[in-house]
Amino acid sequence: RRAAAKAAAHQESRTACGERIEVFANVGSEKDALAAVANGAEGSGLLRTEFLFLDRDTPPDEDEQARQYQAVASALDGRPLIVRTLDVGGDKAAPYLPIPAEENPALGLRGVRVSLWRPHLLKTQIRAILRVQPPQGQKGRQCKIMVPMVGSLSELRAVRAVLDEAKREMGIAERVELGVMIETPAAAVTADLIAAEADFLSVGTNDLTQYVLAMDRGNPELAARIDALHPAVLRMIDQTCKGAARHGRWVGVCGGLASDLAAVPVLLGLGVTELSATAAAVPEVKALVRGLSLEACRDLAARTLDQTSPEAVRDLAKSFSQTLG
Ligand code: PEP
Ligand code: MG
Repeated sequence: RRAAAKAAAHQESRTACGERIEVFANVGSEKDALAAVANGAEGSGLLRTEFLFLDRDTPPDEDEQARQYQAVASALDGRPLIVRTLDVGGDKAAPYLPIPAEENPALGLRGVRVSLWRPHLLKTQIRAILRVQPPQGQKGRQCKIMVPMVGSLSELRAVRAVLDEAKREMGIAERVELGVMIETPAAAVTADLIAAEADFLSVGTNDLTQYVLAMDRGNPELAARIDALHPAVLRMIDQTCKGAARHGRWVGVCGGLASDLAAVPVLLGLGVTELSATAAAVPEVKALVRGLSLEACRDLAARTLDQTSPEAVRDLAKSFSQTLG
């Protein structure tokens, strides 16, 4: 299966019934982007920009950021790149971001909350992203922008205001897609409200699972029990897809669940059309998608929502994969 997956790794990803499913990779550097392309990724659904901001005394300026984002975009050779704005918090603080000590950093100043607390940093980052140019001869924008840890529509509106201001300053009239990560329960259950103004949604299943199950994603004692295939998490993803569909927006998954082969048919059945996996998982995810029919996936997904535990969901997913041969 691995050898067959490798051979077909560079074809466009479609289900057996002909539906287009984008299979992307998460990246954190130019080197990662090269590895993603080598593995057949059709773009990147998540550039974690933290690599540029941590372990230093001053934040990177606009020129440095623009150079780095351009390097990642160029490594992707024109393929779509979704750049996530800075996602640091109390547990990953930099000296130039003096976040006061917090009792619960996971519930504190992090993600978009930090960006709106220090809007000049956000503006600089957005300007740098807007400077990225696609390869010569390619039209349109290669980069989309995505906001982490959103809890309500007002945060998206605040980021859009900064984006609009940066575009005005730079004389950019073109549309720049701005999406929202769905990684808080608040965002998942109000996805219909958020999707009214977001260009796309991307589910961060790592944080979403942590917040839905109230289990610290970094606690080794809980590691065996924190499973994103918990029906509670799947119901949140279901609600996200339904909310997005009301406004004709697409939903992706950029958390760890996108690399979990047992989860892929369930996600497609819920309505996800973009998977951003680890580069290593891309060939197998693409091979799996090629063998799926959406109708069967929808039937499977509907049944997972009525299970009472992640184990039961995994059992269902296992019998489903056995039917694929
Ligand atoms: C997630 O939370 O699922 C996610 C993709 O973001 P990160 O793992 O960087 O928090
Ligand atoms: Mg996250």
